[in-house]
Amino acid sequence: MSRIAYVGGDYVPHRLAAVHIEDRGYQFSDGVYEVIAVVGGRLLDEERHLARLARSLAELRIAAPMSPAALKVVLREVVRRNGIGTGSVYLQVTRGEAPREHAFPRSARPMLVATARRSKPADPAVGERGVAVITIPDIRWRRCDIKSIGLLANVLGKQRAREAGAFEAWQVDDTGRITEGTSTNAWIVTGEGKLVTRAADSAILNGITRLALLDIASEQGFEFEERPFTVAEAKSAREAFLTSTTAELLPVVRIDDLPIGDGQPGPLSRQLRAFYLAHAAGAT
Ligand code: PMP
Repeated sequence: MSRIAYVGGDYVPHRLAAVHIEDRGYQFSDGVYEVIAVVGGRLLDEERHLARLARSLAELRIAAPMSPAALKVVLREVVRRNGIGTGSVYLQVTRGEAPREHAFPRSARPMLVATARRSKPADPAVGERGVAVITIPDIRWRRCDIKSIGLLANVLGKQRAREAGAFEAWQVDDTGRITEGTSTNAWIVTGEGKLVTRAADSAILNGITRLALLDIASEQGFEFEERPFTVAEAKSAREAFLTSTTAELLPVVRIDDLPIGDGQPGPLSRQLRAFYLAHAAGAT
């Protein structure tokens, strides 16, 4: 089956899919995006992703390219036309095409692009082994709550992680507190067994996986607190883990070459991972 992409109103072969060189996404990163997991052909936590998309667009004063109902049709079509069972949908909305000028163009039509990708189910061995993270200064702008396509700092951070043999880089703000990973949210478990993750302030993206896990924590009676934590606190935490749509929940067993706990995925991380995977599998 050849891949099909949605580009500004048309379904086209993926290899021919293109937007104009004067699209403001290309010139200014003037746009937002979402990545939604596809499980059993369905879009996991779709409503929350669409709500976050609407918020990102509103914060940047980009008009919605279509109604939520129409957008759902497009996303389903992209999944269907690509025959995706397990994978993800990527969607991006930019302010559209206009002669290059920083201020908003008087008339530009927002450009919606959507693609779908098949992927193998995540390798359970990684979840069982856990992953390493490094810490790096957070050099991003102050509106990380907006899911902007401007990801240069994240790209550089993830590359540093790769070159250090780590899975992720946890970014650290000017006060020594961890904000989040380059494409994941950061969590620790304190000595008292309390889950801690930063509150959804403008220094982090409010992850949909993060929100799903907070729901799970409440339902299952886990104690949790939304507050920032320092690198030192993370390094001496009982457990640590990270979350995202594509990584799901992965235990963190090393931070900057320091083992967390006994260097193995902790019991709470394992339990929460199992709960999250059940949530993902039961996607409706
Ligand atoms: N933080 C950042 C910076 C991200 O890019 C992502 C992934 N889009 C996340 C957190 C996790 O968000 P989600 O759970 O919605 O995938």
